[in-house]
Amino acid sequence: MKKTAYLSDAQIAHIMSLPPLSEALPYVFQNGSVLGGIVFACTTCGVEFAPENVKGTITPTNTHAALLTSYGLCYGCKLAQPCNCRLADDGSFLVQGPDGWIKKRYAAEPEKSLLSRVKTFLLTGGLK
Ligand SMILES: [Zn+2]
Repeated sequence: MKKTAYLSDAQIAHIMSLPPLSEALPYVFQNGSVLGGIVFACTTCGVEFAPENVKGTITPTNTHAALLTSYGLCYGCKLAQPCNCRLADDGSFLVQGPDGWIKKRYAAEPEKSLLSRVKTFLLTGGLK
């Protein structure tokens, strides 16, 4: 179910005062994983937000995770849509969908090290 609410002048002023999310990109985790960019689209008309129309920040929650909090501005629909993600340093992120969090990837799966592949082989007899 889609929830739309009118914003107060104070809420609009707050959103417009946020920096463009592009200023926080690329976001580099301590392990070297890089979030180079992320594309959000208006859930009403489907148009992708131009980078300058996504305002928000990325805040690390610990060394392995960060919170992306932003608003996409759709001038056609006259909407400010929350665009929130939980980023992980394994190349995955959770994005808030209409029915809950959806897991997606911003980078390929990390390569398994030779040692971990040998351990998997020894423990499973190569079945995995
Ligand atoms: Zn729209």
